[in-house]
Amino acid sequence: MSGITASRGSIDLLAEDFNRAGATARLSLDPNREIAEALRDESCVEGADNVLICEALYLTGTSPWVKVGTVNVGKILDTLRLLAITNRDLELASTTGIQRAGYEFYVHARAHANCRRCRGKVAAAMQGIAPDEHITYFCPTCQPGDHPPVLAHAARRPASKERR
Ligand SMILES: [Zn+2]
Repeated sequence: MSGITASRGSIDLLAEDFNRAGATARLSLDPNREIAEALRDESCVEGADNVLICEALYLTGTSPWVKVGTVNVGKILDTLRLLAITNRDLELASTTGIQRAGYEFYVHARAHANCRRCRGKVAAAMQGIAPDEHITYFCPTCQPGDHPPVLAHAARRPASKERR
């Protein structure tokens, strides 16, 4: 019952004794995987949805498409865990600290809106392989790196409705 084992059972981001080393090891297993894809893999770590993953990558200035092996996985996990914990009991999810429709997030469901940091345009692009693909929201300026073509008509749908 050491909790250090990296090969069995799920690793819960919200656990009080969160197995950070184990989660980092699992995420780093394939260094060529895109970081957002690895974070969405519940066999690596559980407890964060696509909304929080997009937000954590924005807050750490990480392109969702960069390879796991090139980023500080621990730092991203710390940010993601903080977001997961602070959102656990919120009725309306928010990463900005503002619980008002349209102000809750930095990038999620904000395609074509102005980035809150650089004032450039937030973008959206598809990531993953069908049928497990996701819309990934990001700021191309604040999260530099290669990315697929951005969606011209990504919906700016109410974020709380898309929890995955
Ligand atoms: Zn930006």
